[in-house]
Amino acid sequence: MSRIGFIGLGIMGSPMAANLARAGHEVTGHDHKQSAMDRLVAAGGKDAPTVAAAVADAEIIVTMLPDSPHVLEVFHEIKAAGTPAGLFIDFSTVQPATAQALAQYGAAIGLHVLDAPVSGGEAGAVAGTLSIMVGGEQAGFDAARPVFEAVGKTFALVGPHGSGQVVKAANQLVVGGTYALVAEAIMLMERSGVDARAGMDLLAGGLAGSRILELKRETMLAREFKPGFRIDLHHKDMGIAIGAARNANASLPMTALVAQLIAAARAQGYGSLDHSALLKVIEGLNGET
Ligand code: NAD
Repeated sequence: MSRIGFIGLGIMGSPMAANLARAGHEVTGHDHKQSAMDRLVAAGGKDAPTVAAAVADAEIIVTMLPDSPHVLEVFHEIKAAGTPAGLFIDFSTVQPATAQALAQYGAAIGLHVLDAPVSGGEAGAVAGTLSIMVGGEQAGFDAARPVFEAVGKTFALVGPHGSGQVVKAANQLVVGGTYALVAEAIMLMERSGVDARAGMDLLAGGLAGSRILELKRETMLAREFKPGFRIDLHHKDMGIAIGAARNANASLPMTALVAQLIAAARAQGYGSLDHSALLKVIEGLNGET
């Protein structure tokens, strides 16, 4: 069991840190929000007033922060403070280039950095069943295994630094596209006067079935859009996907369309709603507000 410094205790980080504490790790966490740290203390961890204090005697550092600038800022605080840790696992979804830069900065101070973005949402974080896409070197991956086992069910090393973020970008374009089409399916059925609830159950049980239909069809039909995963974050992720496609010289036309629908959701003021609120954009296109 390891001493873990955990930075970023939000929707995802909070249950992940709790699962690490439950698995027997000594977790010291820091977040801008005291309420987030109180949740960790209730789950058996310790709170720290600063990033520096959270990593002061850590063996492993974990981050679960919104975006690249937050991760870079926290990394620089760690570097300035110093830490005995040898492994830094960034679970946040950031640009592959950020993951590569962090790996370089880390190597210079003896920290092996892994990019390890996750999929599975809040429910997967609570259940400890996340899917974890890891970029980095084998030795770091092996050292991180006990952490991955405490928070996830499926994890794999997919290539060098930044590769985990590329796989996560692929994940996000599939998730965004699926939400857009599920929203259109709801619109079609409701407009046609058929029993949309029964129809969605049938879709979920057939070839169109998906985790999204399984977990979100009821809340989408009820127009409940409490996050979950915020539109603002998915907008960030579509930017990452489009940047990754450009770097890979890949043409992804559906991704571009979905990115624009998510941008529309944001422009219409739905940024803080769950990404299933793409349904509101489809409603808007159909003259329903
Ligand atoms: P969130 O906004 O709920 O949590 C982020 C936390 O980081 C907040 O509590 C915030 O106070 C804290 N924070 C920000 N900057 C900080 C700093 N400098 N120092 C200390 N704390 C700081 O976000 P989330 O939904 O938990 O997402 C985190 C990451 O996981 C994102 O990259 C997101 O794309 C990714 N992700 C989210 C989900 C999901 O379903 N929510 C699923 C998979 C991946």
